[in-house]
Amino acid sequence: MRDHLARADLAATSAELTAVAARTGAGIRWSETGSPEFAEKDHTTADGFVISVLQILFFAEIKGEPERVKVCRSSQCRFVFYDRSPARNSTWCSMDICGARHKMRAYRSRRAR
Ligand SMILES: [Zn+2]
Repeated sequence: MRDHLARADLAATSAELTAVAARTGAGIRWSETGSPEFAEKDHTTADGFVISVLQILFFAEIKGEPERVKVCRSSQCRFVFYDRSPARNSTWCSMDICGARHKMRAYRSRRAR
C-alpha cells in the first residue's frame, strides 16, 4: 500500500482501514505510515489474554517461524511466549521469573544432597 500513495493519502487510507477493522472487531489497525499492527487489547480480561496468544500464533505463522512459539517449561506457569533469542533455545517465558525460580530450586536441591 505504501508504494502507491502519497503521505497524506496514506494516513487517510490507514485511518479508514483502521476504522473498518475496528467496526468488525478484527483486532488489527494501520499506523499513519501504513504499517499493519495488532490493535490494542485489554490484558486484564480473559478475552484480552486469548487475543494476545492468538496474535503470537498469527505473527509466528506470518514470519514463517511457528517453532518460536513455545510454552514455558515451568509446570506452575505454562505461559505461551514468542522465543526471540537468536539461538531459538529459550525454555522460560522470563529468565527473571521462571528461569530464576528454576535455578533457585536446582541450587536448593543440590545443597540438600
Ligand atoms: Zn514461565
